Amino acid sequence: MRNFFRAVKIGLRYRITCIGIVLCSLLVALFWSANIGTIYPLVEVVFQGKSVPQYLTESISELEAELVEKQELLQATPDNQSRSFITTQISGLQKEMGIHQRLLPYARQYLPDNAFDTLVIVVGLMIGGTILKDLILMSNIILTQRFTQLAVFNLRKDFYRRTLKMSVRSFHDDRSTELLSRFTNDTEVVTQGIYQLLGKAVREPLKMATCLVAAALISWRLLLLCLVVTPFAAILLGYLSKALRRSNRKAMQEMASMYGLIGETFKGIVAVKAFNMEAYERKRFHDSAKRYYLKAMDIAKYNSMTRPTTEIMGMTIVGLAILTGGYLVLNQETHLLGIQICVNPMSFGDMMTFFAFLVGASDPLRKIADVFNVIQRGAAAADRIYELLDRDPDLPEAKNPAPTPETIQKIEFKHVDFGYTSDLQTLKDVSLTITGGQTVALVGPNGCGKSTLARMVPRFFDPKSGTVLINDIDIATLRKRELREKISMVTQNAIMFDDTVLNNLKYGKRDATMQEVEAAAQKAKAHQFIESKLEHGYNTVIGEGGGKLSGGQRQRLALARAILTDPEIIILDEATSQVDLESEQVIHQVLAEFLANRTAIMITHRLANLQLADRIIVMDQGRIIDDGTHEELMQRNRIYQRMAGSELKDIA
Ligand code: ADP
Repeated sequence: MRNFFRAVKIGLRYRITCIGIVLCSLLVALFWSANIGTIYPLVEVVFQGKSVPQYLTESISELEAELVEKQELLQATPDNQSRSFITTQISGLQKEMGIHQRLLPYARQYLPDNAFDTLVIVVGLMIGGTILKDLILMSNIILTQRFTQLAVFNLRKDFYRRTLKMSVRSFHDDRSTELLSRFTNDTEVVTQGIYQLLGKAVREPLKMATCLVAAALISWRLLLLCLVVTPFAAILLGYLSKALRRSNRKAMQEMASMYGLIGETFKGIVAVKAFNMEAYERKRFHDSAKRYYLKAMDIAKYNSMTRPTTEIMGMTIVGLAILTGGYLVLNQETHLLGIQICVNPMSFGDMMTFFAFLVGASDPLRKIADVFNVIQRGAAAADRIYELLDRDPDLPEAKNPAPTPETIQKIEFKHVDFGYTSDLQTLKDVSLTITGGQTVALVGPNGCGKSTLARMVPRFFDPKSGTVLINDIDIATLRKRELREKISMVTQNAIMFDDTVLNNLKYGKRDATMQEVEAAAQKAKAHQFIESKLEHGYNTVIGEGGGKLSGGQRQRLALARAILTDPEIIILDEATSQVDLESEQVIHQVLAEFLANRTAIMITHRLANLQLADRIIVMDQGRIIDDGTHEELMQRNRIYQRMAGSELKDIA
């Protein structure tokens, strides 16, 4: 529950809303018990065929007679203990009579003198009271929604901020669909939880409390006696709440993996169809949905027990009250099993009002039982959200960041070791110095760690041991934002957003002018196809992941985007692998121009591109095995010779 209350706490900063909610809930609760406490006795008076003044007058004379009787009894009693008991009884009667005497003039002045007119007033009061109560209830609902939505609005923003801060690696570990599930499903569940907590879970206990207080005013001893069953029910409810939270957490995990499965299948729909895997995917989905179903049934089982628990408790309380109260009233007793329950024997009216209050207290209990699961679910969801929010950032920002150098004189890897998991070593003792303005090509077999090495420059990962330095400054001591401003990256699957061409191009430089964008597109040989082949030119929306473009077009846009930001360092990770042979020569020129006097790391398997490199680094199994120019490597490196021999076709 701790995390759930942390989410609730976010809403507490909206003070006026909070005060409004508590005030409205309190008013609703007061109206609730006032309805029971006044309407019921009034109805009772009316159905005895009396008006209120009549009733009060008669009751005063009855009390007077009773007082006289008691006083006579007091004089005739010698025993001290009995005398003190009678004295308390007398003072009780006097108190009651005092109240009636004080009420009588007001009743005479304001209330009608016949029973039917009194009934009209009772009905009027009932309707008026309900209208007023409902108006307050409406405000309460709106204020509660405001509180809830604002709390979750802020929670979502915190969550988004935190996820954007997550390292690339944790994104791989957590899977984006899992995060999506926390974002959508879990935050929605928290919303419902908070709403119910602030709505019913504040209002209903208040309603219950006012009724219990009123019942206690009639006879607190009788109330205590009736409430003996509550501890047992509380223990059972405690157990149920734990079980519910546990099951809800598991159900949410299942829901997240279902999201993952659907996302994965939809993304890979072409493969699913090409390999006729529909039946297999259906089976996987069936298994996942079935697991969710089983968890949902667990929840239903525990949930189904909460209502009976509270209802049986409520019924036992009322039952006990009827039995004990009935015994006291019927026998006109003040004691039960030797325990004093009331001062004077209770009247039938008092007893009925007492019952009415108990019933009034058990109705909110029933409503609380209904929201019990929603709140437990909210608590489980809050745990999942805060689990991520509370994680230590895995790429912490430096405490006192060093200023990022303006110009790059050198990038240096010093004995860098790295592995995505603790038992796997992707990079082994890599040492490499790249001088500013140099273009370095990384070549080597698939999976040998080229991309990983390149991605250490913008600090997507921190080395397990060793350091990455820029101009002799450890990049871990730089501000990540400033470091990354210096770097542009073009990858094999050029990353595009479902937006216009223009916005995609301006992604790294939001304030670029149209002229700058067009100039960059021209340099990347993208301008022509944007203008002539796309329906709305630069304003064409290119679909999810740039799906409406060909692979080559996407890559030219990605190049244009990098050119526009004019970075100090450029990383090209298979950036031209999808460009068709025809445009390869054009792109070659583009790159030649773009890479001149710029520090570049290029991962490529195209011989033509390798000619643009000042140095070629040969990697194998996470290590650098050679370093030289194309000519040098052709002369001395067997692996390189073999790769070049097959036009470096299968090395990347
Ligand atoms: P290359 O670019 O040379 O093809 P990579 O640097 O992409 O190689 O990958 C090096 C190794 O690290 C491979 O064995 C790959 O399976 C593994 N790897 C890459 N990315 C991840 C990741 N996010 N999580 C776990 N392992 C990874």
